[in-house]
Amino acid sequence: MTLPSVHSGGQLLVDPLAVVLEQMPDPSGGSVAGLLERELAEVFGIPYAVAVASGTAALHAALFACGIGVGDEVLVPSLTVVMTVAPLNALGATPVFVDSDPATLDLDYDDAARKVTLRTRAIIPVHLWGRMGDPAALSAFASEHELVIIEDAAQAAGTVRDGQRAGTVGTVGCFSMKDGKILWSGEGGFLLTARRDVAEHATAFRSHWQPAPRGEAPLSRLATNCRLAAPLAAIALANLRRLTKLIELRRAQTRHLLLALEQTPGLVADAPGTQEEWNGFTPLLHIGLPNPRAFAEHLAQRGVPNSTGSFRLVPCDARPMFTGRNRPCRGAAQILDHTLAILLTERDTQTTLDRYAAVIAQEASAWTT
Ligand SMILES: *Cc1c(COP(=O)(O)O)cnc(C)c1O
Repeated sequence: MTLPSVHSGGQLLVDPLAVVLEQMPDPSGGSVAGLLERELAEVFGIPYAVAVASGTAALHAALFACGIGVGDEVLVPSLTVVMTVAPLNALGATPVFVDSDPATLDLDYDDAARKVTLRTRAIIPVHLWGRMGDPAALSAFASEHELVIIEDAAQAAGTVRDGQRAGTVGTVGCFSMKDGKILWSGEGGFLLTARRDVAEHATAFRSHWQPAPRGEAPLSRLATNCRLAAPLAAIALANLRRLTKLIELRRAQTRHLLLALEQTPGLVADAPGTQEEWNGFTPLLHIGLPNPRAFAEHLAQRGVPNSTGSFRLVPCDARPMFTGRNRPCRGAAQILDHTLAILLTERDTQTTLDRYAAVIAQEASAWTT
């Protein structure tokens, strides 16, 4: 099998970047971010997109725009990275960690229901590894408990389930364009929403309340600057225009690696959900070997970068700043202990993938500890 060729770097990105550089310095920030927003909204089939400086900033702006603030509780899967949770802290809101179901990787809605209080305002489903969970279950749960849904779709661009695009199920969907995500611009992020008021508040928030939402005066509230810089917006726009190809490539890379590992002892590919068109964000395997976490770390040392082995990804509720608050989320721990999620980028060629496969197969066969 050969991977589709996706023209990377080169003129495809250099030309649009050169146009923007030609116009700089431009204190107005130029028009490319606005163009990016219009095209994002079109591609994702939603009325509004707001471009910001990072995925973290997208979550921050989204939470702020949805009115989340001091004293509010927000349900968050423990199965996530700290970047999902940091903006809650910045707003004075409290993350309440919810467990995940090892059979589906989706939220454990029984656990979520137990954790709803009078202060619970929102839920942030995190589509980790590009898997988006059941959108109907999410919507039903949120409407039953009257919660705002703010999706962390940072890894899920391109995933569709039951006809619904990741990042368009809730009130807001948040994305990152950090390198390593499928749609990348070095650093960057954006949010999607169908609600004009939310888009306007997020737009005001990212640029010191200027322009202000309808009915408010510019600079009438204190906010922040998390605008997306014009050169990065130009890279993002060029990549957005080949997004279909970028998603196809990621899916092909993941398929290639999973196929190569099909006969490997102790490793089984984690299948997507029913009716899920997964973006293939990362080849995802269940590790059935003894001491699975040590195996993932060993692979990282042998040059196969992966979520748990390279980044020591642990359940968020097990991080030092949160321990002792609640009973540990055991499902999330079980998932992370047994999951091999291999990190990919557009630059990973067939040669790289074949090298990963060879190392993994060899180490799995020899693994006894
Ligand atoms: C990358 C990522 C973020 C944060 O995005 P940044 O652009 O790095 O701030 C948040 N959540 C998830 C799930 C991510 O993968």
